[in-house]
Amino acid sequence: MKKLEDWKGIWVFVEQEEGCVAEVSFELLAAAKQLSLKRGGAEVVALLLGHGVKGISPDLLAYGAGRVLLADHPSLEKYLPLPYTRVISRLIAEGRPEIFLLPATSVGTDLAARAAIRVHTGLSAHCTQLDINSRGELMQVVPAFGGKVMATILCPKHRPQMATVRPGVYRRGEPCPTGGIIEERIVEIQPEDRRQKVIEVHWEKKPARSIEEAEVVVAGGAGIGNGEDWKWIEKLAETLQAAVGGTRPPLDEGWISEEQMIGQSGKTIRPKLYIGVGISGVIQHVVGIQDARTIIAINQDPNAAIFQSADLGAVADFRKILPLLVEELGKK
Ligand SMILES: Cc1cc2nc3c(=O)[nH]c(=O)nc-3n(C[C@H](O)[C@H](O)[C@H](O)COP(=O)(O)OP(=O)(O)OC[C@H]3O[C@@H](n4cnc5c(N)ncnc54)[C@H](O)[C@@H]3O)c2cc1C
Repeated sequence: MKKLEDWKGIWVFVEQEEGCVAEVSFELLAAAKQLSLKRGGAEVVALLLGHGVKGISPDLLAYGAGRVLLADHPSLEKYLPLPYTRVISRLIAEGRPEIFLLPATSVGTDLAARAAIRVHTGLSAHCTQLDINSRGELMQVVPAFGGKVMATILCPKHRPQMATVRPGVYRRGEPCPTGGIIEERIVEIQPEDRRQKVIEVHWEKKPARSIEEAEVVVAGGAGIGNGEDWKWIEKLAETLQAAVGGTRPPLDEGWISEEQMIGQSGKTIRPKLYIGVGISGVIQHVVGIQDARTIIAINQDPNAAIFQSADLGAVADFRKILPLLVEELGKK
C-alpha cells in the first residue's frame, strides 16, 4: 500500500492537436506553478502524448514545466479514449503525482473521468479555482447549484488529487528560459486498445475573434429572438472590432458555436469591455464575465438580473438601440 507522502509533484495533461498546443494547457502550467510555490516547490511535469510531438517540449518547459514526460506512439496521434487512458494510468501508477490537472475540454473531461476510475481516485470537474490548504491538500473549487454555491472539494485519502479546470480561468505565464528535461517513455498499446479508430476529422469554423483574447466582447442572449436579428450583434461587434459571444440559447439556436458561449459551462472571459444584449443575467452566465473590467447591459426588462452586475445599463428594446449605436459608432 503506497502512503500519501509517496505521491509527489504536479502533473498537467497537455492537450494538443497536430502539434498545436491548446491555450488552456499553458494556463494549467501557470496554475501548476502557482500551486507548486505553495507546495514547497513541487516539481511541475507536463504530460505530453501524441506522435511526432517532441518539438512542443521546449515551449512547455519555457511556460512552467520542469520536466516533460513524453509518450510518443502512432496510436496516440489523435485522441482516442482507450489508448490514452491506458498510457496515462500507467504513467500515473509509475510516476505517482500528488496532483494531476487536465483541461475541462471535451478531451480533458473524457480522459480525466476514465483515468480517475482506473487509478482509483476522485475527480473534481470544471473547477474555477485551485488552492492549497494548511494541510497541503488541493482545494478544488467548483460552482454548484447553478453557481449559487461555490463548493470546495478535497480528496484527503486518495492520490493523485485530480481536477479538470475550465479554459480561461488562469492566464498563461511569461515564458522564461529554462533547463528542464524531456523524458521519453516506452508506450505499450494492447490489442484491445485498437478497437477505436478515427475515421474522419471535421474542423469547426472558428469565429473571427476569440472571446478569451478580445479586449471587447459583444454578447447576445435569447432576447435577440431570431437569427435574422442576430446580425445586429455581429454588426455592433464588427463596428467595435469586438468578438461575438453569447449565452446558452444562442448556442442551442446555432447562432454561435461552443467556442463562443460564456459562462459556467462555457468560457470565462476578461475583456476590457463586455456588452450584453438581451441577456437576463442568470448566475450560470454571469460567472463567466465577473472579471470583465466594464459591463454594459441592454435589456428591455428593468428588473433583469444583469443590471446588478452592470456598470452601465440601458433599459431598451435592442431593435431600437443597436441600429443607432452601430450608426453613431460607425461614424467614428
Ligand atoms: C448546469 C447548467 C449550466 C449552464 N451553463 C450556462 C453557461 O455556461 N452559459 C449560459 O449562458 N447559460 C448557461 N446555462 C443556461 C442558463 O441557466 C440560462 O438558461 C441562460 O443563460 C439564459 O440565457 P439568456 O439570458 O440569453 O436568456 P433568458 O434568460 O431567456 O433572457 C432573455 C432576456 O432578453 C431580454 N429581452 C427580450 N427581448 C428583448 C429585446 N427586444 N430587447 C432587449 N432585451 C430583450 C429579456 O428581458 C430577458 O431578460 C446553464 C444551465 C445549466 C442548468
